[in-house]
Amino acid sequence: MNQFKPLDERIAEKIKIINDCWIWQGACYANNRPMIYYKRKCYFAHRFIYQYVNNCLLDRWQLVCHTCDNIKCVNPVHMFIGTPADNSADMVKKGRQNKGWSWNSKLTPQDVRNIRNNQLSHKEIAKQFNLNLSTVYSIRNRICWKHI
Ligand SMILES: [Zn+2]
Repeated sequence: MNQFKPLDERIAEKIKIINDCWIWQGACYANNRPMIYYKRKCYFAHRFIYQYVNNCLLDRWQLVCHTCDNIKCVNPVHMFIGTPADNSADMVKKGRQNKGWSWNSKLTPQDVRNIRNNQLSHKEIAKQFNLNLSTVYSIRNRICWKHI
């Protein structure tokens, strides 16, 4: 694995998109959870990608749950943050997140279209939408929000 490639590229080459799910093709933990190496450490890939794409750092107790029930899916749009209690409630009763939008996702599909369809630089867009540059980059290069 090449540690020096930009992360977006490394993530993009490790996934296979099936029905909107980003199925992880890289290494996995023994329990089948996707695993990613970053700066010589291993992380849960779905958690890592969620934090990376949303530019946030999660607390330990905040679990990244899937709306699609696909253990190997790392599509950040298919994830939402729950507490341990949420997670078990979620297993019992699906439905809250059926549309696949994470409640704390900062962008709407219309925002994504606006970002792609205007002539501003990455930097100007990042400022306007209060995003970091890598998020703008991955939106414009369809690394994330690919389904729009
Ligand atoms: Zn999925």
